[in-house]
Amino acid sequence: MPELPDLTVVAEQLAARAAGKTIAEATAPTPILLRATPAELAGLAGLTVGSAGHRGKFLLLPFERDGQTVRLLAANPMLAGRIWLIDDSRERVRARTGLRLRFTQGGELRYVDREMLGKLYVVAPDQLDGIPSWSEMGPDADDPALTLEVFRQRIRRHPGELKPLLRNNRFVAGIGNAYSDEILWAAKLAPFRKRSTLRPEEIDRLYEAMRSVLYDATERLRELVPPHIETQHREFLKVHLRGGQPCPRCGRELRQIGGEEATTFCRTCQPPF
Ligand SMILES: [Zn+2]
Repeated sequence: MPELPDLTVVAEQLAARAAGKTIAEATAPTPILLRATPAELAGLAGLTVGSAGHRGKFLLLPFERDGQTVRLLAANPMLAGRIWLIDDSRERVRARTGLRLRFTQGGELRYVDREMLGKLYVVAPDQLDGIPSWSEMGPDADDPALTLEVFRQRIRRHPGELKPLLRNNRFVAGIGNAYSDEILWAAKLAPFRKRSTLRPEEIDRLYEAMRSVLYDATERLRELVPPHIETQHREFLKVHLRGGQPCPRCGRELRQIGGEEATTFCRTCQPPF
């Protein structure tokens, strides 16, 4: 599942490589992934791609006319949605391609979703709040406005265990299953700890770990991802899905529970109290 560092780097790549291109034709080979009418989709033709960004787990791609953003693509890739930049439009169209944006300058952008769980919205810039759960999103986990003081305030309102707390986009947006494991390991906090048991210094440690893990991952991904923005890189993660391997800090065996949505942690470094 693309999380904040992945989306940051994909957005940067799109801003560098797709911005300024004009849409010749927009089509939806697998239309079920797209929340837009055929007329809204056809209306993208003639618009120019603006500078991509992200918000929480959404990738945002603006479309401009005369320098003004008139439409936005908000893509929530969920588990397996991927954005491709294709140089040659004659390249075979993969199964489960939810969107093709063919450019007048050649090449195209495609959204492919193996699991068909993602969603694509095409909206006017003032309609983002109409996207389900959009208006409830907390600040992005890497937002400069989310200072330690703001984090301390916000976390008081959210009870429950730490792993679901970090993944709760109402608390902070953009963290999923992989980076929540990485952050909790870095903070030396057990994933099952209850927020209410955290001492003030542990809350501060959680904040520092969240920021540094996301920052370091983004830096690493800037080296690894280009030019293949459709490829997700997780090989540099320290603990997530490394159950049974030695903890990089203490050398004890990492524990892993759960199946597809696994949680990996170190019982020694992340004590349950
Ligand atoms: Zn350890």
